[in-house]
Amino acid sequence: MMPMLDVAIIGAGLSGLSLAEKLLPHKPNISVFEARDRCGGRVLSASGPTQDFTADLGPTWLWPSDQPRIAALAERLGLTLFPQWDRGQSLYQVQADALPATYIDTQTHADARRIAGGCQQLIDGLLQGIPERILQLEHRLLTLSDQGSHVDLTFATDSSVITIQARQVVLAAPPRLLASNITFKPALAPGLLSLMQDTPTWMAGHAKAVLVYEQPFWRQKGYSGKAISAYPSAVLAEVYDACLDNDHTAALFGFFGLPAEIRQQYRDSLPALIVRQMVGLFGPDAANPLSVVIQDWSQEAFTATAEDRMPVFTHPVYGHRSLQLDHWQDKLYFCGTETASRSGGYLEGALDASDRVFTALTL
Ligand SMILES: Cc1cc2nc3c(=O)[nH]c(=O)nc-3n(C[C@H](O)[C@H](O)[C@H](O)COP(=O)(O)OP(=O)(O)OC[C@H]3O[C@@H](n4cnc5c(N)ncnc54)[C@H](O)[C@@H]3O)c2cc1C
Repeated sequence: MMPMLDVAIIGAGLSGLSLAEKLLPHKPNISVFEARDRCGGRVLSASGPTQDFTADLGPTWLWPSDQPRIAALAERLGLTLFPQWDRGQSLYQVQADALPATYIDTQTHADARRIAGGCQQLIDGLLQGIPERILQLEHRLLTLSDQGSHVDLTFATDSSVITIQARQVVLAAPPRLLASNITFKPALAPGLLSLMQDTPTWMAGHAKAVLVYEQPFWRQKGYSGKAISAYPSAVLAEVYDACLDNDHTAALFGFFGLPAEIRQQYRDSLPALIVRQMVGLFGPDAANPLSVVIQDWSQEAFTATAEDRMPVFTHPVYGHRSLQLDHWQDKLYFCGTETASRSGGYLEGALDASDRVFTALTL
């Protein structure tokens, strides 16, 4: 059995990894337990189909002018930021077969920046400072049991169920997911549990599609790549330019408008439906993408619950006080972006939350 840990961090997303990196010099006896076989959580970038192309399938944008923590992390990791492309005419379509209207929009992405090489660079950069021995992938937390002097944690691994002991536990995962999947012994207070269930996981009900092309034909025609399709049957509701900053690869990405259940029903037809929609927006040049990649977060068991399948379109109020306090007499903390007092839901919020927990654990 693993010796008792000082701190067990659950979740190797941005909040869990940034906390681990900060804690290590103060508390070397820690481990990060991650249910998936990869780190990053909602941060996910995919490579291909052309050399050097990376598509952000989770987060895409940072707003460094208003997000000091993520701006500082990107700078410390030496990452290159570049502005979201929005030069040219944007499109607005109210019916599938109607010609889109054009308009000029330079405000939507005024301060938004992308990371060259994709947002995954944030995770890869943090992992440089975290020894492999403290990362336990494919360890899915099942139960937490308060033993007074410590907490017992049980995990499902690929081959068995194991128990680990830790003096303190940090839950760096979405509160709603934790409320659904973890058994707390003793049970959490009903008010806290319902607060967790009522806290939507940001973007968990959404899905993204990335279309890679040989040429940025929309830019060549004077379009920005931004298109809004405001009709109920639109497969993608919003489309944006997703080209790299190096001119080598052209891409568009879009957020789905179809709800999660319909996406599942038409799963096999979605790539063809998306291409047809792009042709309706940008013309016949859009007919032959090199690839169409779809990432549906509502189907990810370690991000979304059934309640998340109905997407949230306005930004929830995050950072409830009860999720920022310690529980079980200083032994249990919450640390996902949904617990942040500032920029909750965003990458910045994940760092805000890990700063708060770091302070509490090192006081
Ligand atoms: C489609 C999409 C677009 C987005 N766009 C943006 C954007 O442009 N800008 C922005 O700032 N933010 C954006 N976000 C939000 C951003 O991705 C999140 O704020 C951030 O990644 C959250 O990090 P986190 O560590 O709090 O949570 P997560 O990344 O969700 O990490 C939680 C981790 O816990 C693990 N886990 C869950 N359950 C268990 C368990 N039982 N046992 C062990 N491990 C478990 C998960 O596998 C995961 O790795 C977007 C998100 C999505 C999905």
